[in-house]
Amino acid sequence: MTNLYLIGNWKQHGSRAAIQAFSEQWSSDPNPQLRIAIAPPFPYLQALREALPDCQVAAQDCSVHAQGAHTGEVSADMLVDLGCQYVIVGHSERRQYHDETDALIAEKLAAAQSAGVTPILCVGEQQAAREAGKQDEVVRAQLRSALATAQPNLLIAYEPVWAIGTGLTATPDQANEMHEMIRQEVSSLLGASHATPILYGGSVNAENADALFACPHVDGSLVGGASLQAASFMAIAQSASNYLSH
Ligand code: PEP
Repeated sequence: MTNLYLIGNWKQHGSRAAIQAFSEQWSSDPNPQLRIAIAPPFPYLQALREALPDCQVAAQDCSVHAQGAHTGEVSADMLVDLGCQYVIVGHSERRQYHDETDALIAEKLAAAQSAGVTPILCVGEQQAAREAGKQDEVVRAQLRSALATAQPNLLIAYEPVWAIGTGLTATPDQANEMHEMIRQEVSSLLGASHATPILYGGSVNAENADALFACPHVDGSLVGGASLQAASFMAIAQSASNYLSH
């Protein structure tokens, strides 16, 4: 174990007042092996960076285009210009509600990598696929498509769709098995010499974080709901920190 990553995904939540309140409560153990970032909506990237200088900032999406007549789009270069370290690509909510295809996600991933912002590629199966025992097949197909032309500089978040925002969490064994399969697939696609961090996401909270961080193939977590309050996100960060100091 070298590093653990903890990324908070605020989705479409937040305000300047919420950032102020969060920053007044926030404090984290300065462990260099624990990489913490928060992904607020685009308009709050700058405010969050200023309010929480000991956290990195991440974006929730980026455009495939570098610039031009693309109203509403935000380029990966703009994210770099704002000091973003990471960008989430292929979140299941973008796949489901914004019709993002594997091909578009591969293009976003490439745009992020060529701009110099680290993509966090989200993969994960729907409940029906899990019930049919097809989770490996679905996730392998997502990885093959997204990583066909990718460089090694990325993080992966395994987020079973049935666990996102539902209060259902994959068991540590389910998460670990999927991460091990993902690790093998990524090694065969990108080369075994690259240790790609694989994060788990799906209803992670202060109660279940310890058991997930203890899984040998879990390198951190992408946290939605529990990242909105400083107290719950700090409790998860504390679990990660405790695990690192074992
Ligand atoms: C997410 O949005 O990526 C996520 C994992 O959300 P939650 O933690 O709320 O399930």
